[in-house]
Formats: sequence, structure tokens, C-alpha cells
Amino acid sequence: MNISRLLYNRFVHKGPFFLVFYVTSRCNAHCRMCYNWENVDNWQSIRELSIDEIGKITRHIGSLQQLTLSGGEPFLRDDIDEICRLFKTNSNVQFITIPTNGLLPDAIGDKLPKILTESRGVHFRIGLGTSEIHEFFDELYGVRGGFERHRETERILRSLAAQHANLSIDAGIVCSSFNIDRIRTIVDYVVTELPESNPILMMVRGEPRSPEAKNITVAQFEDACRYARDIKRDNRPLAVLMNGMRDMVNDLIARTLTEQKAAITCRCGERMAVIYDDGEVYPCELLNRPFGNLRDFDYDLGSLLGSRENRQYVKNVIKKGCFCSWECALNNNIALSTGHNIQLIIKAIRHMIGR
Ligand code: SF4
Ligand code: SF4
Repeated sequence: MNISRLLYNRFVHKGPFFLVFYVTSRCNAHCRMCYNWENVDNWQSIRELSIDEIGKITRHIGSLQQLTLSGGEPFLRDDIDEICRLFKTNSNVQFITIPTNGLLPDAIGDKLPKILTESRGVHFRIGLGTSEIHEFFDELYGVRGGFERHRETERILRSLAAQHANLSIDAGIVCSSFNIDRIRTIVDYVVTELPESNPILMMVRGEPRSPEAKNITVAQFEDACRYARDIKRDNRPLAVLMNGMRDMVNDLIARTLTEQKAAITCRCGERMAVIYDDGEVYPCELLNRPFGNLRDFDYDLGSLLGSRENRQYVKNVIKKGCFCSWECALNNNIALSTGHNIQLIIKAIRHMIGR
């Protein structure tokens, strides 16, 4: 990790610290807990940003700490390697996370080695969706034979992680009513079959394709997090801090959902933004008022976010006590909160001295 770049992005740079970019709405799965299912179902009506347009966006950004390339299934974009290269070259991005359902082992085996080699200096995290295993995976993801393909992806990722120091793997587990009774089995699977990875538990959010997915209690989520909490691996830059961050995010989710109010100041729309595949920009994934389309702002994210109307909107939303359990926003909010930074450092020191 480049510490001076982190400090620059945290304290000096005025643009987004964390950007989520939905590179496509196309998806080869049909997950019951999917919150983005309307875009996934309507992908044919969406005019995706072209690689030239993405190039223009990256040239305006200047500096960026964390980029998440989301979807749909991001590896369905043939130019995913070029997208990573543009953000590295033009935006000096430090971390790129790519969530994947693991159903495209050939594309991952073909593209990822190139991405890792061409973008040395950027640390990549592949979030391998592992919300279920075996026949339950096929049922939850709506893909017959899906788990076999997922297993092949696991093998490829393990082999790449052994060859490339700039790759970490996380197993993303979305907790919902469909898997909460089997969470320990799923976490145990991750521990034994994907020993290089960290199990990352998330609470189902938004309006899922199957609404009953949300029939899960905060206590059930907390219990699942407690089970996964002891599994801490030192397989990424500043692992102690990253593990502490994961625990803090889980605690904030539980507190927010129990107290039904924000447990930390949200910095979305100011130091974090979401770009959809058609160029629409939102302050976060949950508010449904778009800020505008990058195509109408000459691809300049800074001028779109900086408009007086958008800044005022964000201020009002936060003032009214907006809250949610979106992990990306919580990660960003912790990274930008001095109080939480201090807590994180104390946690890390305690961990290192074994207290
Ligand atoms: S959750 Fe992800 S993988 Fe599943 S359908 Fe939605 S976008 Fe596709
Ligand atoms: S608290 Fe959640 S819903 Fe509200 S602005 Fe922040 S990320 Fe969006």
C-alpha cells in the first residue's frame, strides 16, 4: 500500500475517495437476494458507457483510493482489463475490488492474469460471491451446474493468488432468510476450501428479487458475524487494519439496524459516488434521486458532484438522519472519520500485542 497516496486521498484530495462503478447490468445469474434485479432484467434497454467514454471519465478523476467495479457480472465486459488499466493510468487508483458470481471461470482465467500484470501497483480484491454452496448454490443463484463452475473459478483464483502479490480473495456471503440457517456450514466451507480468502458477511439490502429474502433478524446476522469474526487472515496489505475495519462495519450494521438511526456520519455524494453503466450518477446505491448523467457533464464527475443543487441535496439528506446498512458506504465513512481511525489503530495495536 502506498501510504503517502492514502494520506493524500484522505486529507488533501477533494474528489471521491471511494467510487462504485456498475460496468454492466448484464448478468448470467438470477439470484433470489439480488437488489439490482430490475437493471439486470432490463439490461437490453441500457446504453452502456463505451470504453472511450470511460477513458474520458478516468481522465477527469485525478486521484482515487478505492474503486469497486460492480454489475451485473463485471467479467461479462470483454474490456474489463482495459477499464482497470484506464483507472490505473489516468486516475492513479490504489485499490480495485471486483465482485463476481464465479460463473465465468474461462473469462476470469483469461482476463485476470493480464489485469494483475498490467496494473502492478494497484491492489486487487476479488469478491467471490459464495452465499451458498453445492446444490443450494444452484438454487439460490438460479443456475443449473453453477456450483461446478464456481469451483473451477475457486481453483483459478487460488492459483493466481499464489502467483500475484497484488491479489486478495474475499468470499462474499450475503446473509438472507435463504441461507441464514446454513451460514456456519458456508463459512466452514470457505475456511477449508478457500484458505486464502476472508469470509465477508453482508446483510441483504434494498428490495431483493424475492422479498422474503429480508426475513432475517439483526440477532441472526450478529450471531453469524460472531462466528466468522475469529477467522482473521494476514493475506492482504495492512491485514490487521482491514480485519479491524471488517469487524467495525459489522458492528455498525447491527447498531444501525437495531437503533434505526445512523451510527456514523455518511459521506456519500461528496467523498463517495455511484456511477451506473449508462452514466447516471447517484450519491449511493440506496437513494433513488440521480445527480445527473456524466454524458451531460462532459464526463466530468467533479463538476457533476459539485453542482450547488447536488451539494445541497446531500446536506439535507444527512441532516434528516438518513441511515442504512450498505457496507461500502460504512467502509468509506470509517476511513474518513478521525474518531473511527483512532479506534481502528487502537484495535490494531491491541491485536498485535495480543490483548
Ligand atoms: S446478485 Fe449479482 S450475480 Fe446475482 S443476479 Fe444480481 S447482479 Fe447477478
Ligand atoms: S446513509 Fe445510506 S442511504 Fe443515506 S446517503 Fe448514506 S449510503 Fe445513502
